Amino acid sequence: MPDCIFCAIAGGDIPGRIVHETEHSLAFLDVNPLAPGHTLVVPKDHYARLDDVPDEITADLFRTVDELVPRVEEAVDADATNVGINNGPAAGQEVEHVHVHIVPRFDDDGGNPIHAVAG
Ligand code: C5P
Repeated sequence: MPDCIFCAIAGGDIPGRIVHETEHSLAFLDVNPLAPGHTLVVPKDHYARLDDVPDEITADLFRTVDELVPRVEEAVDADATNVGINNGPAAGQEVEHVHVHIVPRFDDDGGNPIHAVAG
């Protein structure tokens, strides 16, 4: 997809701080993290919304998220994580390429739900 920043990262056309890769999915650090270790997991191919993603790739995407959550928590010594998708512009999706946020949380960070954290 032309002009898609996450396609450009997945295609190696622009650098991303990539932390993990599978056949269908790529994980990289968010450039504007809500917390240290904030990671995005995306399908390598372009899909705007979750319901556009073929089942096999959805399975790979969420399996990857499931595997990465404890690794991200361990990497930054987090106590918990918010895991979520802004699915569509009205939900706050700014990059129209499906991405799962993994946001590390800490016992002393206030415990607000992610929508309060993200403002
Ligand atoms: O869910 P939403 O679309 O609002 O989130 C987009 C996320 O992509 C933001 O957290 C933003 O910091 C991140 N981003 C990024 N690298 C870019 C552009 C956006 O990590 N080049």
